[in-house]
Amino acid sequence: MKLSDKLIGLLIGLMKNSAQKGNLANSGLVLEDNKLLASAESLVASGHDATAHSERVLVAKVCRLKKQQLYARVADDFRC
Ligand SMILES: [Zn+2]
Repeated sequence: MKLSDKLIGLLIGLMKNSAQKGNLANSGLVLEDNKLLASAESLVASGHDATAHSERVLVAKVCRLKKQQLYARVADDFRC
């Protein structure tokens, strides 16, 4: 898979943000059907959270989004 220049720019921007806050210059993104679903940067130092690596932050964001989508779908299915 080849990332677009726009997505590469997003990753670089997040990495710079992360580093400027004293975190490691890490970032990540998740695509779904070739569309951006979520992105995240490392928040370990700035968030005072040793577990806030960009990939862990990203997984949490995707889980939250998917849960919201699931609830919206269920609410839609049961609308009467
Ligand atoms: Zn990590």
